[in-house]
Amino acid sequence: MNANRPTRRWPRRILRWFAVLLLILLAVVLARCLYAFRDRDPAADFALELTDEAWQQDPRPLRVGFARVKITPDVADPTKPVYVAGFSQNRLATGVHDDLWAIACIIDDGHRRVGIASLDAIGLFHEAVLEIRRRLRPEDGIDYAIVCTTHNHNTPDLMGLWGPHPLKSGVDRAYLELVIAATARALGEAAAALEPAQVVFHQIPMSTDGIIADTRKPVVFDPDLRVMHFTRPASGDTIGSLVTWANHPETPWSRNTEITSDFCGYLRDALEHGVELDGRPAITGVGGIHLFINGAVGGLMTTHPSVTVTNPFTGIALKEPTHEKTQALGWQLAARIAPVLTTPAAGTDQTPITIRAHTLELPLDNWAFLLAPVLGLIDRGHSSWMKMRTEVALITFGESSIACVPGEIYPELVNGGIERAPGGDFDCDPVEVPPLRELMPGRAKFVFGLANDEIGYIIPKSHWDRNPPYLYGSEKGVYGEINSIGPDCAPILHSAFRDLAARQSR
Ligand SMILES: [Zn+2]
Repeated sequence: MNANRPTRRWPRRILRWFAVLLLILLAVVLARCLYAFRDRDPAADFALELTDEAWQQDPRPLRVGFARVKITPDVADPTKPVYVAGFSQNRLATGVHDDLWAIACIIDDGHRRVGIASLDAIGLFHEAVLEIRRRLRPEDGIDYAIVCTTHNHNTPDLMGLWGPHPLKSGVDRAYLELVIAATARALGEAAAALEPAQVVFHQIPMSTDGIIADTRKPVVFDPDLRVMHFTRPASGDTIGSLVTWANHPETPWSRNTEITSDFCGYLRDALEHGVELDGRPAITGVGGIHLFINGAVGGLMTTHPSVTVTNPFTGIALKEPTHEKTQALGWQLAARIAPVLTTPAAGTDQTPITIRAHTLELPLDNWAFLLAPVLGLIDRGHSSWMKMRTEVALITFGESSIACVPGEIYPELVNGGIERAPGGDFDCDPVEVPPLRELMPGRAKFVFGLANDEIGYIIPKSHWDRNPPYLYGSEKGVYGEINSIGPDCAPILHSAFRDLAARQSR
């Protein structure tokens, strides 16, 4: 009997220890989750509303300033690998093809001052944008700073998704710090460079053939180039420009391991310096500093390797994803913009500014996004349970308006063309109507994508499709939802912009 006692006790003891271990494990996981999901910036909520009342009573002339600071990573140190963002994990940078920049522009109507920064980067989370704003000096006098990334897929990982393997972040904290400091410095230097200016707003039609593909139905683009051109009132010389267009800067594609500013850099250089071929000017440069800001790139705007781009000056057709093809794409854009900038146009310096911006919460409905902070991939918290804080803004500037969208919005949300899509998970009529540009005030309507945040794809609810049957009879499902925070993201953002536009028109 005695001999049997321990054998009866052992299973119970093992079970007890197992239960204790399980509890400890659960507590560790819970603690890890709570730590990962902690709100990084509980004091970040804000609502800003600055009208042009003061300007209307005391109109003052426009002033602008431009500046740029290099943010090229050091890829020469073998002990510090640079993980390139945008495609697969463990894509290590092997060299620098051309420099990356934080480029800033300040617009000032004499009462309100808006800073706009554009970075050659994959994306920046809201927390980093808040940190950039904290670094601005009081003497910069910036009422509201907009920080956009071009969504460049040939730049270091700043989000955490493209490290050495799927469970390790690719973000180098020192490089992130360099980017934050450089952006704050560029905004400060642009503020210090303020000078009297006139502005002309252009909308330049752009074909999509041989330029860009839409890889998800319905086929809707945001094809046109929109430009703010700033000149010196006395001489008409260019101070700088701000160009928006909608396309993924990923032209050299997934096997490229050289850091490059993609077509955005070729475009900016061509506008500034011009392009010479065989000793003859192909594009006349206008000097100044030029910002490229990306727009509605979702759904999915890309110069995919299937797209053949023709060099506008040599006529050479380029299909293989190379730097040469990327240059041809940048020059295609510059060839349309430069003649417009070199043609004298009547500008104005009477450009009152209004600023409406606020934070808001979006519900997280994507397990990959929920898991990423726990695994240490993404350094981003929840503002409340299963909700993420982001930011929207609507600026008016003279006869233009700017919608700051915190991610990759689908063009049909901006220009119209949302459908009651067959096969969608929600069998519903389009929710986000009318389209954003119909809501926006003014004549020239600029949509800044990846502005002040990068929350991923913003997909119309009636096009949301995770479960079979798939959209438009697709057999293998559609790409996009994996990179979106959820089906209610677009309706909530659309409603926020509708409210901002309504407040503007009151
Ligand atoms: Zn993208």
